[in-house]
Amino acid sequence: MKAIYPGSFDPVTLGHLDIIKRASKIFDEVIVGILNNSIKSPMFSMDERLLMLKETVKDIPNVNVKTFEGMTIDFAKENDAKVIIRGLRVISDYESEMQIAHVNATIDSDIETVFLATKMEYSFLSSTIAKEIAYYNAGVEKFVPPIVADKFKEKYIK
Ligand code: ADP
Repeated sequence: MKAIYPGSFDPVTLGHLDIIKRASKIFDEVIVGILNNSIKSPMFSMDERLLMLKETVKDIPNVNVKTFEGMTIDFAKENDAKVIIRGLRVISDYESEMQIAHVNATIDSDIETVFLATKMEYSFLSSTIAKEIAYYNAGVEKFVPPIVADKFKEKYIK
């Protein structure tokens, strides 16, 4: 069974990677979908996010990375995937994630959203927090894959 794991991944963190690794043990194939969202203005370009994610998952054979625009449901259908994976950290995630899952289920009831609970050590971690830790040079290596830590250095250390 194929699953997609959609998100902004601006940039990918160890919290995302944990969800990807665990999903790869449950599903035959996991397609990580980087959303090109015209409303958000990302720190990392689409090419940078793609490169960082590809490098991060390169040793997991049943995980592929793609980019997409538009509706997540359409990306799932294009890839013949019946499952959308999302991660849950805190109660506030629950509220917004439930709304998205209900909307998606209304559009196509054949596609299920599956939530994976965060590993406790990453429950506070988001791409935004990682950016802040990197900005203050406060040890971001503990929270992001090595290639992301390197990219942060390029951005922040002049
Ligand atoms: P989006 O902009 O779509 O919320 P993100 O890139 O922030 O995308 O996150 C993608 C998915 O990964 C979301 O389901 C989010 O809840 C989940 N996620 C993000 N950080 C973590 C984490 N530390 N642990 C578990 N899940 C996470």
